[in-house]
Amino acid sequence: MIPFLDLKSVNMRRAAELENAFARVLESGWYIRGREVEAFEQEFAGYCGAAHCVGVANGLDALVLVLRAYKQLGKLKDGDEVIVPANTYIATILAITANNLTPVLAEPDDRTFNLDAAGVKEKMTSNTRAVMPVHLYGQTADMAGINALAKDKGLLVIEDAAQAHGAHDGNNTDPRRAGSLGDAAGFSFYPGKNLGALGDGGAVTTNDDALADAVRTLGNYGSREKYVNLYQGVNSRLDEVQAALLRVKLKYLDDEIAERREVANFYLSRIHNPHITLPLVRDPQAHVWHLFVIRHPNRDALQKALNQKGIQTLIHYPIPPHKQQAYAAWNGLSLPVTERIHEQVLSLPLWPGMTEDQQSAVVEAVNHAA
Ligand SMILES: *Cc1c(COP(=O)(O)O)cnc(C)c1O
Repeated sequence: MIPFLDLKSVNMRRAAELENAFARVLESGWYIRGREVEAFEQEFAGYCGAAHCVGVANGLDALVLVLRAYKQLGKLKDGDEVIVPANTYIATILAITANNLTPVLAEPDDRTFNLDAAGVKEKMTSNTRAVMPVHLYGQTADMAGINALAKDKGLLVIEDAAQAHGAHDGNNTDPRRAGSLGDAAGFSFYPGKNLGALGDGGAVTTNDDALADAVRTLGNYGSREKYVNLYQGVNSRLDEVQAALLRVKLKYLDDEIAERREVANFYLSRIHNPHITLPLVRDPQAHVWHLFVIRHPNRDALQKALNQKGIQTLIHYPIPPHKQQAYAAWNGLSLPVTERIHEQVLSLPLWPGMTEDQQSAVVEAVNHAA
């Protein structure tokens, strides 16, 4: 069986260093808001090209706290409209509704799966205050176009970068990466993400001093100074153990992205099945291949055939947010591009360290499927 993701092998390659990092925290006697988190925040901010990084408990909280902080700073208020791609993972939308803001679902570009300026423009009203592009599957959204439009209209741009640690904006001469391509960004360090902890974790990155301070304060009970509470905050912090482990993983992130690119290039050059649409790559040096997503008009049959040949695949995602029971009021909306994407996408196995035999077996099975 070829699994969709062999996470154990990904982490076992760093076993000795991860164990050392854990031992360092154990022996420090200090487990929350200490030196490991501080060091990781600096290292990850530097990696992204952002001035600030604030560790939080998970990726959803990162997005929730960015929006909450903007409300606290008076830049957003209840009912403001936030444009978001309709085909995103539900967390992006939960962050908006959790803040009493109004998500406005925009259709993505059918080839890149990502939001672009035209899609944003179509959904703009006099109540639009922010855009949340999602760098889906590891490829950045059209940030140049979206930023130009946002600047013109005075909108905040908040990246959902949960799938795009290390991704560039399709222009390799620009050193900035996802996390510094808008006003603020939310990251997830869920174990299966490209930069994954051994548990939950997340971060906000931004160049905005006031926003970074508000996010940090909100995530620590609304307190900047112990027992002095400025806001009705929450407890959402990255802990020392996860930060220490992430510092090890961050050192290898660029190498692992290169390995992911090799697997993706292997698939791109060898999959020849007339029924399959391969992913469109805007810039081969920019995409970080969190997922390798193909399309097939009869996706469920393809998934079944691959499964019978011992190839595990996943669907990202089987049900679009507007068809979920959680958002029952939207169930009647018609978003044909998004709905077709959800019917047709299939994610192939891909992880750093995947062997060439495993990659060949995937190609073979995909090319022989109907
Ligand atoms: C994983 C993910 C999140 C949420 O991150 P968690 O750490 O699981 O809360 C948000 N947005 C996208 C696009 C994701 O893939």
